[in-house]
Amino acid sequence: MPYRFFNFLILIWNFFLETIFPWQCCFCKEETHHYPLCQTCKNNIPINSFFICPTRKKRIFNFSKDCCLNKKPLYALGITSSYKNPVLKKAIHLFKYQQIISLQKPLADLMIKFLEKTKLYSITKKENFLLIPIPLHDKKKKKRGFNQSELLTKNIALHFSLNYNLEILIRIKNNPPQAKITDINEREKNVKDIFRIPPTKTTFIKNKWIILIDDVYTSGATMQEAAKVLKKYGPKKIIGLVLAKG
Ligand SMILES: [Zn+2]
Ligand SMILES: [Zn+2]
Repeated sequence: MPYRFFNFLILIWNFFLETIFPWQCCFCKEETHHYPLCQTCKNNIPINSFFICPTRKKRIFNFSKDCCLNKKPLYALGITSSYKNPVLKKAIHLFKYQQIISLQKPLADLMIKFLEKTKLYSITKKENFLLIPIPLHDKKKKKRGFNQSELLTKNIALHFSLNYNLEILIRIKNNPPQAKITDINEREKNVKDIFRIPPTKTTFIKNKWIILIDDVYTSGATMQEAAKVLKKYGPKKIIGLVLAKG
């Protein structure tokens, strides 16, 4: 409860700041009509133009073909931009840890631009896509006040009029953050069995092109684990989409 109250105060404070200083870009501090990120800073974030195979890390040209020997549940991965880009790195940090929630819009815009560039929507009908954010554990979501991946998902879904669902994938274990673990095997262990799908939701998955959305991709263990659980219910393909690779 105290966390919630604290978060609420931060939200009010951010809202107050945004009202008083609506013109300050959160990165360069220049005046802008595009708060929280000015157009110059936003344009300085490069956008990738293709999906890669999470196993080979090579470009995927044809979504109707099986890629290489990729036997992992995640078929393709879209990395919108680079974490080395200082604007993006700071924006993600401010969004997640300083609760500048209004950054959801410019950050989602980057993912939207990526999806437009890759022409993913040209491979199947809109209604065949289903966007699912990587969930946070309830305790963590309450502590932070929101799930950044949910906010990104909603913005993208709204832009393209795509279906999304926040109740299909549930995080049942509050595991430590992957970024704090360096060993790849330990990372896999850390995410083992952390997700569950409620029995009433499994029918939503069949034959869908699932797009799993997260902010940052670390080793991929979390996304693969989520894809593994979803794959049991017969989706057409599972594709990952993130802002950057950490
Ligand atoms: Zn700026
Ligand atoms: Zn491959």
